[in-house]
Amino acid sequence: MPLIKTASTDSPATLPDRLDAAFGDLPPALRLRVLRRAVSGAIVFTTSFGLEDQALTHCICDAGVDVEIVTLDTGRLFPETYTLWAETEQRYKRRIRAYYPRHEDLGDLVFRQGVNGFFNSAESRKACCGVRKVEPLRRALDGASAWVTGLRGDQSANRQGMGFVSLDQTHELLKANPLFDWSRDAVLAFAEQNDVPLNPLHAKGFPSIGCAPCTRAVAPGEPERAGRWWWEEEAKKECGLHVAEDGRLVRAGASA
Ligand code: SF4
Repeated sequence: MPLIKTASTDSPATLPDRLDAAFGDLPPALRLRVLRRAVSGAIVFTTSFGLEDQALTHCICDAGVDVEIVTLDTGRLFPETYTLWAETEQRYKRRIRAYYPRHEDLGDLVFRQGVNGFFNSAESRKACCGVRKVEPLRRALDGASAWVTGLRGDQSANRQGMGFVSLDQTHELLKANPLFDWSRDAVLAFAEQNDVPLNPLHAKGFPSIGCAPCTRAVAPGEPERAGRWWWEEEAKKECGLHVAEDGRLVRAGASA
């Protein structure tokens, strides 16, 4: 773990367990402060402007925690997401850095499989996520000591059991999920209490919002992420940002 710079005598290998045990019960803003004190290198938060990410943006900005906020602009986001991006910058008086796909790779991908080629097969969908999300994420996290995400444990079966902080061996850094034990209702209540700007698509049946062609509204009672890559099997619904090569989420103690 050469990139992780801890601010104490903790080793990068023992830090996740200590943070989980000592600080797991704190509210998200304090969890972020604890993480900031424990890590001396850069901390990067990747937002896709969904409910959880907006709540975390509020926590970071309101508490003044030194965390860089970035987004991965795939080029296929909903117009509402771009509007919310601008609204969020205005509300919190800070710019959110965007990472884009490499234009040569994107050109090759679209030429090879077509502009909507992600519908062709599981492989073509993963190839698109790879060029538009996974590679830009690698650049966004390059050199960082910790990565903050808006993941919640009850979002899907393969996110259950996650903790506050884990070692992400794919990107060689700490991965922190300050909302790991929060329910969707609790995050929504927090957002409403704090007048956090939200994507209007949430109120139109989109609990989880990604790229426009790959996201649909869900019916009442459907799982939260049922609208993401709805044509694929439930167990395979990850874009590659949060999954190790063997298909499991990267967690402390898990071999990535
Ligand atoms: Fe491509 Fe769809 Fe993945 Fe977005 S979600 S990167 S459009 S396959």
